[in-house]
Amino acid sequence: MADSVYDAVIIGGGAKGLITAMYLAKYGGMEVAVFEQKHEAGGGWCSDEGSVPGFVFDYHCVGVRPYYHFATERDFPEWKEDYGQMTRMLDIDTGIGAIFEDQSSILLYNLLEDPDQERSAKSIARFSQKDADSWRRLMELYNLFAPAFVEWVHNPPLAPEETDILDRLSKDSRFDPSWPGKSLFEVLNDQFESKELISLLLRGALSGGRPAHLPGMGVVQLMWTLGIALQGAYVNHGAHNMAHAAVKIFLANGGKMFTRHPVDKVIIENGKATGIRLTDGTEVKARKLVLSTLDPYSLCFRLTGKEYFDPQMLSRIEKLERRYTVIDYFHWSLNEKPNYLAADANPDINKTDCVFLITKDPEATIRETHLRLSGVLPTDLNLAVFAFGADKLRYPEGKFAATTEQFTVAGNVLNEDQWNEHAKAHAQEVVKHWQR
Ligand SMILES: Cc1cc2nc3c(=O)[nH]c(=O)nc-3n(C[C@H](O)[C@H](O)[C@H](O)COP(=O)(O)OP(=O)(O)OC[C@H]3O[C@@H](n4cnc5c(N)ncnc54)[C@H](O)[C@@H]3O)c2cc1C
Repeated sequence: MADSVYDAVIIGGGAKGLITAMYLAKYGGMEVAVFEQKHEAGGGWCSDEGSVPGFVFDYHCVGVRPYYHFATERDFPEWKEDYGQMTRMLDIDTGIGAIFEDQSSILLYNLLEDPDQERSAKSIARFSQKDADSWRRLMELYNLFAPAFVEWVHNPPLAPEETDILDRLSKDSRFDPSWPGKSLFEVLNDQFESKELISLLLRGALSGGRPAHLPGMGVVQLMWTLGIALQGAYVNHGAHNMAHAAVKIFLANGGKMFTRHPVDKVIIENGKATGIRLTDGTEVKARKLVLSTLDPYSLCFRLTGKEYFDPQMLSRIEKLERRYTVIDYFHWSLNEKPNYLAADANPDINKTDCVFLITKDPEATIRETHLRLSGVLPTDLNLAVFAFGADKLRYPEGKFAATTEQFTVAGNVLNEDQWNEHAKAHAQEVVKHWQR
């Protein structure tokens, strides 16, 4: 006999769980309950005070793009109208930039500051006039592709016989027909000659989590990277505000939110998921559906059981690639805003909220990826600094806050003691690299 009954039971109160819960409650007209193991909802949408009081950081999701939430805004007007301060995105100051070993720098301005991209073209022209012209042409393609990219991102895959919008656009005469088969590394080398611009874009793309040498990924990665350069944003006062807004909307639509309620098992009867069992033994029945937002491995091997799945699918899930996106993500409470030597020649670099401190060698990012994937800790830093100049409420007056990002090896390469040692060593390496 179940202890309670709902139409839909959702396991996990992160971004996916909360947004799905909002839709099922409002548009599905269902009685929905979300079960979250932690003390609050949000999952990767979490912001918290750092180890120094008064500084607030995002521990997972930092960078967002306005297009991530256009469907939420359309379907839930209250997302903006009632909770607009929580869901507001602040455009990062002054796009993205890179500073190289010789203190030269390159900067791509965002569209707010540089709608016709002439300032970006000028920054590129310091290294190559030809690339500045290619950048202007690329912007024409971006204007054509950006809406198609958003449509592609927000829709499920089509049947094999149908062509999606990106395929159709690839036939546009302004678009090089060889690009869809190429990697980002190949597309950038095809388009540009300046190693500074290529290195900046390759490192920018890495923040999207996918290696830049994968064939067939070039166009999608290029669009994603141009997105952070031209329209990068943070959530006002931290990503967790999105979770607050989502929970309020969900509750207003009759939803029930249970925090500190870890789920142990999905209950399966006659081949159908009919409810969940919590770790304290409580059983919750689902009249219509049980939805897991956990990773496929946890769903198949922990929450349910191997016996319920086709062996081929289990084998695919066991072999899912886990090494691509592993990050040393460090949060820094600073006495003052960084003042780079490169600003002597390029003052705007000091205003830039997303700066990469990298080498001019375009191969560096590719080399680092191959090392990481082989289980070797990168020795040369390929560092991103995400600063919060655009959000003064994240740090006390007169101070400054930033997060650094360095990609690293998979979690199982080091044991716990080794990771703790690595954390200390990495912090020192970052300080040294940043000071230089
Ligand atoms: C270091 C890092 C940096 C990132 N940077 C960005 C970024 O800049 N921009 C961006 O858009 N995205 C970023 N992401 C990705 C983003 O955080 C995730 O894509 C997003 O949080 C995934 O949402 P989700 O709902 O699928 O999973 P999660 O947010 O992980 O939510 C799953 C929830 O399920 C709960 N849970 C787990 N097991 C159980 C259980 N047994 N019972 C009950 N509850 C359970 C968890 O506590 C969690 O709250 C980053 C991620 C990381 C790790």
